[in-house]
Amino acid sequence: MSSTPDSRRCAYCRAAPMVAAHRPFCSPGCRARDLNAWLSDRYVIPGGSDADELSAPSRLDNGDEAG
Ligand SMILES: [Zn+2]
Repeated sequence: MSSTPDSRRCAYCRAAPMVAAHRPFCSPGCRARDLNAWLSDRYVIPGGSDADELSAPSRLDNGDEAG
């Protein structure tokens, strides 16, 4: 039986096989990217008065000041 175990794939790209030295990733690069994404999501900067680039009509949330 020769099947490809999905549980032994990189947790980030899921394309390359996981490397024990960098598990659960395939390389330090994927590890850094995953960490970066994680931090980016964690350290999300609270929306201030920067309505310069955020001039998108995506302000449909009214009456809810989530601080
Ligand atoms: Zn990878």
